[in-house]
Amino acid sequence: MEKARSKYPSGGFCAVWGCSNRQTKGDGRKYHRFPRDPTKRKQWAAALKREGFVATEYSRICSDHFTKESYNGSGRLNCSAVPTIFNFPDHLRLTVNKLRICVMHAVVQWITFYSSVPSNHVTLAAMLA
Ligand SMILES: [Zn+2]
Repeated sequence: MEKARSKYPSGGFCAVWGCSNRQTKGDGRKYHRFPRDPTKRKQWAAALKREGFVATEYSRICSDHFTKESYNGSGRLNCSAVPTIFNFPDHLRLTVNKLRICVMHAVVQWITFYSSVPSNHVTLAAMLA
């Protein structure tokens, strides 16, 4: 295992959130580098929906995230292929994050409102007491 790790920089992990596949001997999957073309590279990075993710030359995406149609007859990725298959937890996480942002926004508005009206703040404190 340790030997396999040193062979692949950054562990050869798949860059997709929630995917624990990694490049090891005997793993039947393909691990694709990000395209060199900047436009396509952005498309791939955007598809991952990982905030702040920047693909490096070591970033890989495993073949689990590409449809069969993404491959041509010789088993290579088509030049227009973009990863589209992702695990459900990825979307779940995004929803939770959105919800968190909504709650934070409401709290900030509430604090802003009450700190601008000191008398209301006192009344509320009295009600809670
Ligand atoms: Zn993967």
